[in-house]
Amino acid sequence: MINPTDFSEELDGYKKIDQYNEEHVDRIAHHYSDILEALGENPNREGLIKTPERVAKALQFLTHGYDIDAAEVLRSAMFEEDYSQMVVVKDIEVYSMCEHHMLPFFGKAHIAYIPNGHIVGLSKIPRVVDAYARRLQVQERLTNEIRDCIQQTLNPAGVAVVIECKHMCMAMRGVQKQNSVTTTSAFTGAFQNDVTRSEFLRLITASLD
Ligand SMILES: [Zn+2]
Repeated sequence: MINPTDFSEELDGYKKIDQYNEEHVDRIAHHYSDILEALGENPNREGLIKTPERVAKALQFLTHGYDIDAAEVLRSAMFEEDYSQMVVVKDIEVYSMCEHHMLPFFGKAHIAYIPNGHIVGLSKIPRVVDAYARRLQVQERLTNEIRDCIQQTLNPAGVAVVIECKHMCMAMRGVQKQNSVTTTSAFTGAFQNDVTRSEFLRLITASLD
């Protein structure tokens, strides 16, 4: 039950409408009021009065991947094609939330597949990333879920996924290693082969200029 709400933005003919589940917004906001108090804040002061509602809406947006069927996203744009060379989509922005601290982790994903009769609309690959990233996650599972979805839906000769992220739970708390980057990778099929995997790694580290 998703209702369109108050928040919309108009930009040169492009209209962005955010949708929220009002019941969930109320429920989450109610708890955030308590949390503010427990933190020693006054939830009724001017700057905070609408904060619980804003946080509730932000959290719904940051976890909207639960409502997306990533396999369906791919199936909606699969085409028969006998192209059988590696297709690489690199530098896909990733924004996710670590499930241990509910703090952001973000960075880039690089994805490749080798078609086996079908290709997929290129814009669908970043949407698959988003479908899994916009949930409470760990980077390792995110990497595997993207790989498995592409492998199982498109059935290519191989899939490669490399994700590089900075974790706010590492940078802002705990060990406070502010610039460390975590890299995870997952491969299937032809990418298990050293030569193919090296070619992929060379392509994602090469620059166009
Ligand atoms: Zn964490």
